[in-house]
Parts: sequence; C-alpha cells; structure tokens
Amino acid sequence: MSLLVIGSVAFDAIETPFGKTDKIIGGAATYISLASSYFTDKVNLVAVVGGDFPKSEIQLLENHGINTEGLQIKENEKSFFWSGKYHNDMNSRDTLVTELNVLENFDPIIPESYQDCDYLMLGNLAPQVQKTVIERLEKRPKLIAMDTMNFWMDIAMEPLKETIALVDVLIINDEEARQLSGEYSLAVAAKKIMALGPKTLIIKKGEHGALLFQEEKVFFAPALPLEVVFDPTGAGDTFAAGFISYLAGQDDVSFENMKRAVIHGSAMASFCVEKFGTAKLIGLNQEQIDERVQQFIDLSRFDLVNT
Ligand code: AMP
Repeated sequence: MSLLVIGSVAFDAIETPFGKTDKIIGGAATYISLASSYFTDKVNLVAVVGGDFPKSEIQLLENHGINTEGLQIKENEKSFFWSGKYHNDMNSRDTLVTELNVLENFDPIIPESYQDCDYLMLGNLAPQVQKTVIERLEKRPKLIAMDTMNFWMDIAMEPLKETIALVDVLIINDEEARQLSGEYSLAVAAKKIMALGPKTLIIKKGEHGALLFQEEKVFFAPALPLEVVFDPTGAGDTFAAGFISYLAGQDDVSFENMKRAVIHGSAMASFCVEKFGTAKLIGLNQEQIDERVQQFIDLSRFDLVNT
C-alpha cells in the first residue's frame, strides 16, 4: 500500500555526550521515509529543501525506493536547520537553534501521482501545513497518523488542536502528552487527548518504551536495553515510520496489528539511536530487522507456569 510522508528534510547539528556533528542530513521526513522504505515499497515524499541541500542526499533517498517527485527545491533559499544538545541521560535535550528558512512559507504541493495515497504520515511540521495536506487529498486515506512537538504547542496550540481533530492516530512523547492535556497521569492525559479526535494515541517514553491507547484498550511496548545509544535524534520519527509503514505493508489497521506495528516502530527506533543521524537507517536488511523484532518479543514474553 502506498504511504504519503510529509515533514521536514533538513540539516541538523547534534551534540551528545559522545560527540558533536557539524551540519548533517536530518529532518523528520528524512527519518520517516528511510525507515518506512523497509516495510512498504511505495513511499511518496512531500517536503521542501533549499538550493544548499546536496543532490547526492536526494539520490540516496531515491536509492531506497523513495519517490521524491513531491520534494520541492527552492534554489535561492536555505534548507531548514535544527540544532540540539542532549543531556547526560540522553532522554532529554535542549533545542539550540530552529531556523525555519524554506519551511517558513512551505506550500505542500501533492503531485497527481500521489493522490491514490492509502496511508498518510504527517511528520513534525507546522500544524497548519499538516492540515493543508489533508485538505488537498481528493480522497481520505485509510489511516492518517500525525507527529508533533512542544515547539508547536508553545506557539500554535489552537491550530494544532484543529489538525489533531482530523487524524486517526496521534504519536507524541510523555512530556508532550502532559503539555497538551494539562494532566500528569498519562492514562488521564490519553483520555483527554483522544477526546480531541484521534481514536488511537501513542505515547512514547524514550528508553522506557511506548504506550498504545485505543478507546478502553492499552498496550505497552518496552524499549530494548541497548548497550550503545549514540544519538537519539530522529528516534521518534523512526518509531512513527516503523509503526505506520508496518500497517501499510500489511494493510491492516486492527488494534492487534497496531500492537505488532508498535513493536516494529520500537525496533526501527532502536537501530536509529546506534549511530549519529540517519547513518544506521541506510542499508539495513530484513534479517537484521527480524532479529531485532525477535529480541523485543523475547524481552517481555514469559509463561505463568513451567512448561
Ligand atoms: P525527533 O528526534 O524524532 O524529535 O526528530 C528530530 C528531527 O526533527 C530533526 O532531524 C530535526 O531536523 C526535526 N525537527 C526539529 N524541530 C522541528 C520543527 N520545529 N519542525 C520540523 N522538524 C523539526
């Protein structure tokens, strides 16, 4: 099934306790499309970059089977730039710089060939732009998932709530769930957020796993206790990608399949953090992914009695 991905394609500069990068390739949609390419063979990207964005990086996306017809290149402008610094626990970070540049006036144009989209992943972007994408699709996709961040809650809470009301699945972290709902308890927060519109909510808790809520149902997926956590940037996007592209690949949006999708999202995110930027998402193979998923299954499976 085809998956339409929208979000930032960007330059990032990252500092972790293990090292520091100059400008490297990042952006929510970059992580999402790369990770999704392992589960569904039709990934259609809508994004915008400036003339400073290397053509070789666009080629790399294409080499992963990603359709870049919807990637606009504004030759005389600069690409979106984000810089962040992680604290010692690697679970929290400070944003040092957000330069919107080309994103400031981003008009998401959906190529005609993308109109048959079955699944839509709205990566982190201004909520007004995310909403425009939904409005510009001639038919409603089978499933719309959305990511966002505290940045938009601080400056655009009302438009954000309007967009949230239109989606099926909202994927945010625990801090964002608390900010959005004004509640400390994640169970109470989940109820309040689902009352805004989305039938399904995923709350990511970094190295403490993720919670999947739908109506009265809850599922918990652990995170692997990894020996190497080098750079968490993009882990959230990669998780969302694993989740929605697994659903798209199976073409099954049942709650039971969403549980499997959350595990696949967690597995992909566990790869992402092992190297700086998108490095670990390039050139993975099915065997590595299956092995990682199995580690997740083994991690929390137990029998109540000896067999
Ligand atoms: P994550 O670590 O999953 O939150 O995603 C990090 C990615 O999000 C980085 O590659 C950034 O380029 C991108 N990003 C950070 N802030 C924004 C923003 N305000 N709008 C769009 N993308 C952003």
